[in-house]
Amino acid sequence: STEKNRQAADAVGDSSPRLGTNNRQDEKPSHKKLCFRLAKEHDIPEDLNKVLENKLMETVSGLYYINMSVVEMTCSGDADEEGIVSKSVSSHSDLIPGVYEGGLKIWECTFDLIDYFSEAEIQFTNKTVLDLGCGAGLLGIVALKGRAEKVHFQDYNSTVIDKITLPNAVANCIRTGSGGDTKTSQPPSKRPKKAEHVPSVLTRCRFFSGEWSEVSRLLLSSNKPFSKYDVILTSETIYNPDYYGALHDTLAQLLDKNGRVYLASKVHYFGVGGGIPLFEKFIEERNVFRTSIVKTIDKGLQRCIMEMAFKESS
Ligand code: SAM
Repeated sequence: STEKNRQAADAVGDSSPRLGTNNRQDEKPSHKKLCFRLAKEHDIPEDLNKVLENKLMETVSGLYYINMSVVEMTCSGDADEEGIVSKSVSSHSDLIPGVYEGGLKIWECTFDLIDYFSEAEIQFTNKTVLDLGCGAGLLGIVALKGRAEKVHFQDYNSTVIDKITLPNAVANCIRTGSGGDTKTSQPPSKRPKKAEHVPSVLTRCRFFSGEWSEVSRLLLSSNKPFSKYDVILTSETIYNPDYYGALHDTLAQLLDKNGRVYLASKVHYFGVGGGIPLFEKFIEERNVFRTSIVKTIDKGLQRCIMEMAFKESS
């Protein structure tokens, strides 16, 4: 199934999602310094049918996702903060002016982590989960289907949350109702069924956009009750060493003292500079987390799954 998933991942991004190969400059997350884009929470719209309007859904690993290479993005006069105007998508950089961090396609390490969840029998039942740097949000959706108590999704770009993550969560929630296990559910048809009201499974989700430190600040300062996460999932988020400080501190602030981080990454991001050895070194120097490489994937560009926990955790 891994090979099939990987082909699907390529089809979504219509090129191999490899940072630094320079074959598609427009799909490369930025190496520019990020401005501290303020964090915001995105409400779940009441009319869920609108969320899925004019979206072409595909399926991979029994999950729905919006095929970004064919979707036509439109936005009426009240353009959102990223200034999207009505146009057909010709490239991802056209779609999101300013700094784009790669959330519009599904990156291959997402599938590595999904495979790892089933191999290692990772349990999400009654857990509070964060999909950090979620893009399409498939990791969080898998956790939701695994009966997580709460799943929060975060992406740098607000357009990604509104146009991709939220619709993907809606499509998967409408289809599976109570959030049944992927393994036991029927193979989904191409069209998710119509939503009459917000299904209870979706009320377990919250959606956030913004830079990591800002999202962390928003969560911790909000007057809504916040409990730290039992599990933080993150895929292809350590390509840029400039963000390691913000990423480290966010994990340290938001993870429960006995929580676990599952991080999927390429070993090296050629051209961008980041990767597993550099990130491990950074974590070691901060002396807050212990890390272990729980899986290495040698097919194609070498990739890893890393588990992180607080040094003093049980
Ligand atoms: N996890 C998704 C996947 O595997 O398909 C998307 C990976 S994409 C290459 C990197 C993700 O990390 C994007 O969703 C981006 O918004 C987020 N990200 C990267 N740097 C960030 C930062 N400094 N603050 C907030 N989000 C960031």
